[in-house]
Amino acid sequence: MKALRFVGVGLPPVVEDVPVPVPGPGEVLVRIGGAGVCHSDLHVLDHGAQGAGSKPAFTLGHENAGWVAAWGSGVQGLREGDPVAVYGYWGCGHCRACQSSMENYCENADAVPQAGGGFGLDGGMAEYMLVPSPRLLVPLGTLDPREAAPLTDAALTPYHAIKRALPLLTPDANVVVIGVGGLGHMAVQLLRVMCGSRIVAVDLDDGRLEHARQLGADLVVNSRNGAQAAETIRTFCGPRRAALVLDFVGLQPTLDLAVQLVGRNSQLTVVGVGGGVLQLSQMTLPFGCSVSTPLWGSRAELLEVIALAQYGRIHVDAHYFSIEDGPRVLQDMRAGKVHGRSVLVPGVN
Ligand SMILES: [Zn+2]
Ligand SMILES: [Zn+2]
Repeated sequence: MKALRFVGVGLPPVVEDVPVPVPGPGEVLVRIGGAGVCHSDLHVLDHGAQGAGSKPAFTLGHENAGWVAAWGSGVQGLREGDPVAVYGYWGCGHCRACQSSMENYCENADAVPQAGGGFGLDGGMAEYMLVPSPRLLVPLGTLDPREAAPLTDAALTPYHAIKRALPLLTPDANVVVIGVGGLGHMAVQLLRVMCGSRIVAVDLDDGRLEHARQLGADLVVNSRNGAQAAETIRTFCGPRRAALVLDFVGLQPTLDLAVQLVGRNSQLTVVGVGGGVLQLSQMTLPFGCSVSTPLWGSRAELLEVIALAQYGRIHVDAHYFSIEDGPRVLQDMRAGKVHGRSVLVPGVN
């Protein structure tokens, strides 16, 4: 089968022919419907995968959905052809965090040999993908796996980040979303259905900002000129400033902007892995501002996100490409040319 592979740090990804995996005991083989292309894939290409069980070369793709194709001994309750989303963070499955479905905060993340598909083990940018346990599969109901694939990260990650801050998101509060690409355009929609706060969207791309406005942002601001953007947003928000700033970029300029926007008793949530550094001391942020660095989301939250999509309350702006298109799509993403979410679909031309 064709697969888009990580072959080494700093090297471009390569489309290779690899064997279709055979599920061993407890494992499930999923026929991939779609695999979302994420900024984290660029991070993997540039820095490698950190997981203790990482392979030197592996198939990319951590936002996956498809259909149950086969399973190994000991797996029960599945039917061939069941549409499923693949929960992407593969924890130990045993610790307290994993037992409460928050595998994204697995307590054994550094200790046991493990990694997620696309993060050191073979991911979903291929025709088939091996999943180590049926607990990592979430039923999709009537959703098309191609459309649903990005929900597993591009929607789950902002959902988790917003849910943690919900007590702050009263109808008289303001929330700022920095970066309205793959995750951010989902964040705007999620905020619309999860709270009554006013939403400010910030980006460098006017097309993405216009899309954010259509999705429900109350104010859209191009941050080309950072000082001016901060001023515009502060005027809009008033003296309380923002109760929540979600930075889906994490570069130095976006963090610097976020610091200027948070109010007292607020939350600054950094999701983007842009490598910027936040100066933190008692005096560098408004009093009562907490800083949060959430990672992905829980299995239960993926069920909630899928329900929102199933009821038509959120919608991924998905664009479909073949596995062979993968290297070009990743290049476009690096150049900031991607709108919404790109999804690799096996067999599409
Ligand atoms: Zn991702
Ligand atoms: Zn665990």
